[in-house]
Amino acid sequence: MAGKKNDLHVKKLEEEREQALAELARLREALKSEVDPDADEGDPDLIEREKVMALVQGLERKLESIEYALRQAKEGTYGVCERCGEPIDPARLEAVPEATLCVSCKSIVERQSRIRTTTTTQF
Ligand SMILES: [Zn+2]
Repeated sequence: MAGKKNDLHVKKLEEEREQALAELARLREALKSEVDPDADEGDPDLIEREKVMALVQGLERKLESIEYALRQAKEGTYGVCERCGEPIDPARLEAVPEATLCVSCKSIVERQSRIRTTTTTQF
């Protein structure tokens, strides 16, 4: 049954959500304790802090995808690409249970976001 397969993904997603939340809590705690008002730009502590902040942002994005995938699972639309509506490759869902885009849409979206980043930062 199709539902059974989704149950497995839901379990995996919930585990991932737990892990991401725990990791986020840990990182936020680290951010709290590392505030140094005297730090100069380029200070190793500040660089470390920026790294942690980037990790936090990455995790928040991941959590959003996980929540979205869990909602989809509840609505019975899990495993369907949110961009083109085609089923996502099961092997991809196996590797990335929070995936909401099929491989081809993901590469298109990533290309677009790279172009956006490139134009805004003028690199
Ligand atoms: Zn797609």
